[in-house]
Amino acid sequence: MSRVLVIGCGGVASVAIQKCCQADEVFTELCIASRTKEKCDALAEKLKGKTKTVLTTAKVDADDVDQLIELINDYKPDLVMNIALPYQDLTIMDACLACGVNYMDTANYEPEDTDDPKWRAIYEKRCKEEGFSAYFDYSWQWAYRKKFEDAGLTALLGCGFDPGVTQAYCAYALKHEFDQIDTIDILDCNGGDHGYAFATNFNPEINLREVSAPGSYWENGHWVEIPPMDIKREYNFDQVGDKDMYLLHHEEIESLAKTIPGVKRIRFFMTFGQSYLDHMRCLEDVGMLSTTPIQYNGQEIVPIQFLKELLPDPASLGSRTKGKTNIGCIFTGVKDGKEKTYYIYNVCDHQECYHEVGSQAISYTTGVPAMCGALMMLNGKWIRPGVYTVEEFDPDPFLDALDRYGLPRSENHDPKLVD
Ligand code: NDP
Repeated sequence: MSRVLVIGCGGVASVAIQKCCQADEVFTELCIASRTKEKCDALAEKLKGKTKTVLTTAKVDADDVDQLIELINDYKPDLVMNIALPYQDLTIMDACLACGVNYMDTANYEPEDTDDPKWRAIYEKRCKEEGFSAYFDYSWQWAYRKKFEDAGLTALLGCGFDPGVTQAYCAYALKHEFDQIDTIDILDCNGGDHGYAFATNFNPEINLREVSAPGSYWENGHWVEIPPMDIKREYNFDQVGDKDMYLLHHEEIESLAKTIPGVKRIRFFMTFGQSYLDHMRCLEDVGMLSTTPIQYNGQEIVPIQFLKELLPDPASLGSRTKGKTNIGCIFTGVKDGKEKTYYIYNVCDHQECYHEVGSQAISYTTGVPAMCGALMMLNGKWIRPGVYTVEEFDPDPFLDALDRYGLPRSENHDPKLVD
């Protein structure tokens, strides 16, 4: 028995909500709240008669803490699942604290306006001190640790696939496969094809910001930053085949560097096709990825937000996308005094996801872990006052839930390593 409030009703939220409704013995009541209430109503309508979960909907502007507090006090949930955008992480955490409710999300905080001088001053100090320049980092949400501890509440950060499952894979490797992990390579491969020359698989603004930023990795206790897409490797992925992949900065590296004792190197690679990269470079060169507002015909527009309007809605890619994703972690390290390697990953088929929930695999591979993370919190297995990332909890029940709800793991004890 539980009451859950989900904020956001986009590509990822729609999968998470449908999966919650499959586990209606746990998710007995669920409110879908978002900026555009019509989308929430349409999803609730689609699920009518298919679940015992009692669904309600609400309109909320999650940038407004007062509106959130009113909604949370009114609905009285056991858990708030933030599946809106990373821009809303702090306002929703504030509201959860004010109302005494547990919190979770799928991506760490970044500001909508990266030109805001107040945010920029803190960001530039962090770049100098930490050595990586991504707009997103954990410091903003880790700063809430004491507040959540004092309130006796749990905040679970970044419970999608990457971040999220990749960190559970690390915790699992440390628990069952290694005494010491030396290196971690996180490999995110999307072998799907949607037939468009250019489209993003999740929110275009968040996606393009991430992949156009400098890459960085953790080595021997510090960050090494490189120009965007400067390190390229080829890898042969199980059930997908050969793909080019590029080293990116990614948020889970930051937490894993602190939580995996003695780890020497952590890298993150994502596959991209040449057409995607050519389009992205061109859009960046002409200023279309900028978040700085410009005046056009007497109206203020933000170039990247305008671009989002032109690009296909990620939620509409489901029916067109064919192929598979393969996301996982390759480890090197030591067990019982012997050096060993280990690869744990999931393969997910875009069309199978579409037939099950009407979405492509990127939304699916994020929405299912969000639902499984919520399940861990609601059944008390992942409840501990404070602010935590996924690898700080027991990975076993979470990976079992993923196996059961659509993202089963595969393992390889003799994988090809990335040089
Ligand atoms: P979408 O853009 O499809 O959906 C975002 C939803 O949030 C929309 O319903 C939107 O409403 C709503 N929203 C935005 N702003 C507000 C606001 N101020 N108040 C209330 N609702 C708001 O994004 P995705 O579903 O693709 O992504 C959701 C999250 O998942 C993002 O944080 C993304 O970074 C994260 N993600 C994480 C991954 C992982 O592996 N960890 C992978 C992929 C995504 P409206 O419909 O009105 O626009």
